[in-house]
Order: sequence, then structure tokens, then C-alpha cells
Amino acid sequence: MTQHYRITLLPGDGIGPEIMAVAVEVLKVIGEQLDLSFEFQEALMGGAAIDAKGEPLPAETLDLCKNSDAVLLAAIGGYKWDALPRHLRPETGLLGLRAGLGLFANLRPAKILPQLVDASSLKREIVEGVDILVVRELTGGIYFGQPKGIFATETGEKRGVNTMAYTESEINRIGRVGFETAQKRSKKLCSVDKANVLEVSQLWRDRITALAPEYPDVELSHMYVDNAAMQLLRYPKQFDTMVTSNLFGDILSDAAAMLTGSIGMLPSASLGASGPGVFEPVHGSAPDIAGQDKANPLAQVLSAAMLLRYSLHQPTAADRLEQAVNTVLDQGNRTGDIMSEGMTLLGCRAMGEALIQALHSV
Ligand code: NAD
Repeated sequence: MTQHYRITLLPGDGIGPEIMAVAVEVLKVIGEQLDLSFEFQEALMGGAAIDAKGEPLPAETLDLCKNSDAVLLAAIGGYKWDALPRHLRPETGLLGLRAGLGLFANLRPAKILPQLVDASSLKREIVEGVDILVVRELTGGIYFGQPKGIFATETGEKRGVNTMAYTESEINRIGRVGFETAQKRSKKLCSVDKANVLEVSQLWRDRITALAPEYPDVELSHMYVDNAAMQLLRYPKQFDTMVTSNLFGDILSDAAAMLTGSIGMLPSASLGASGPGVFEPVHGSAPDIAGQDKANPLAQVLSAAMLLRYSLHQPTAADRLEQAVNTVLDQGNRTGDIMSEGMTLLGCRAMGEALIQALHSV
């Protein structure tokens, strides 16, 4: 029986519409091949929404997102909107989308593709075979804890304050995403904290440890964040799935991503307890190359693969899409950002066509 899914598309700004067009075409082909029916509904977000509606996340966009099975976002922002007040900036739309959909878990894979291993700034023998997924808590911790602010002390000196706080239930729900994600991968979970110094981290470690018996197939380890940062550079292959708090995850996911050396290849997923997840490339709107058919669409396509895997629970379709990305790279096809000697330089559209050919040959 045909499975039917409604997907909201948010192409956004800059290269967003170009890379989104490629992702939609490949999803259509996958749908035909695997008897999945996708209904796409496009909405305005970011600078495009500011220009058309005067705000970065119009209510109708959020409504469409809520009424869908998953949201595929490209990228938002650009020079044109940089000087606007904070509440009108494109990035504010992103925060609104996360809050509106209750997205508390951010999944950031960092996988070294064998064809691009020399793009990393680390030695081949250190990064070859790296396949890490960082699960970052997204709506709690020090970015949101109260009190926060800059206050005057009794002496008149100013004091800046942020509060790192987690409740047991907040830790439990992100912990479960960590364990369940590890179950879909190679069943190794490393929880990262600073339990030797921070009480909030001690509670984190206690809760994650308490969840472990519910996931007997997952091998759990704990690591302090300073050591984790060091180990990511020293021996990244020891990690599979990592779960950590908002601040530590922000830093570690960027560090892990950069092991791959190529920003045009990195997807991400943000998930809530229920309802649609949001899937988007890690890179921005690349205004410097927008409209020139130079963008690498592969991070967007890999984000679509994550959407198939994590929101639609269609692992075969996700595998197929990832395999197509592998095939086009094996064939020597490259966009400018990942170009190297002896390879074939393609534009965004041509890379899309190569992907579709690869899908037809699977
Ligand atoms: P960026 O990621 O847009 O670009 C950094 C560099 O990488 C540029 O040289 C760009 O050409 C290149 N690049 C990025 N993606 C590429 C791709 N798919 N193919 C080929 N090259 C690619 O970061 P930036 O320049 O710091 O930011 C540009 C705008 O994007 C800003 O307005 C920023 O606020 C916004 N931004 C949005 C998001 C998002 O939508 N989630 C994330 C980061 C930045």
C-alpha cells in the first residue's frame, strides 16, 4: 500500500532554493521507486518571509509545519537582513520554529566519506572511517536557565550571569533520544558531561545511568567534556553516538563536524517528543555563491535522507539516498567546495542530475 506523507519545504534564502530543488527531485524519484507518496507544501521563512510578510516566521508557515509529517529546511539569512533589529532577523525565525515545534533534540552526524578523506585538516589515518552522531539537547541548559542577565552589584560593578540547569525529565527525554539513536546505529553511546565539577552534570550522569537498563543492547560510557574534546581530535573513531547538553553539544558537534572538512556535506536533524522534525544542512545560505549554480546540494540531500530515517521511519529509502550520494562521489563528481585534482566539476543542478541517474541505477 502506498504510504502518504506531507512534507513542508522551507527553501529560505541565498542558495536555499537551489539546493532545495535538488532535494525535492531526488525525493520524488525515491517515492516512485519505493511506493511512497510525498505531498510537498512550500512556505516562506527567513529573509524571504521578512520581505514578503514583514516577519521571519509568519504564523501560516508555523501552522503548515505543525500540520506536516516532517519539515525540510534549506538555509536562511543574508547580508540584506543583517542590520535589522534582533526580533526581525532571519535567525529569530529559526528559534521560533524550534520553540513552536518543541524541538529539544539536535542530531548532528559527522561522517567521513572515503572519497573526501583528504578534505579533513587531520591526518588520513586519524579520520578515515569516522562516523559519529552528536545528540545535543537544544532547549534547556545554560542558554535558557534562569537567572540570566547582566546585573549591577552593590559596589556598582557589573556581573554577568547565566545558569546551567536541567530537570530530571529534561535529561530523561534527551537521554532516551541518545539511547534510541544508538540503537539505530552501532549501539555504543557516550554521554558527555562535567560531573567532576558541576552538580547539574552529576544529575545528568545519574539519570543517564539510570536509563541504561532499559536499553540493554546499548553499551553506555561516560566522558568529561574536556576529555571528549581532546579525544575527538586524538582518536575520533572511538565514538559512535554521543549525547550531551546544549552548551557542550554546541561546541562538540561543530568540532566533530569539522573533522570532515567539508561544510557542504553536513546534514542535521532537530526532533521533538512527537510531531514533525526539522531537517536542514549545517551550512548557511552562502550568499557569496547564491544564484550562480555553484552550491553543493549534498548536505541538503543528506538532510532529506535523515528526514526519511528519523521522521518517516523509512530506513530503506534513507539508505538508498545515502548510497546515491556515495555513487556520485565515487564517479568523481564534485561541486566547487569539495573539488580536488582529477575530479569532474559540476554545478548544483548537474549534481542533482547525477544523483537521479545514480538512483535509477541502484
Ligand atoms: P555559510 O555556511 O553560508 O558560508 C560559509 C562558506 O561556505 C561560504 O564561502 C559559502 O560559499 C560556503 N558554503 C556554504 N554552504 C555551501 C554549499 N552548500 N556549497 C558550497 N559552498 C558552501 O556561512 P556564513 O557565510 O557565515 O553565513 C551566511 C548567511 O547564512 C548569514 O546570513 C548567516 O546568518 C546564515 N546562516 C544560516 C544558517 C541556517 O540557515 N541554519 C546557518 C549558518 C549561517
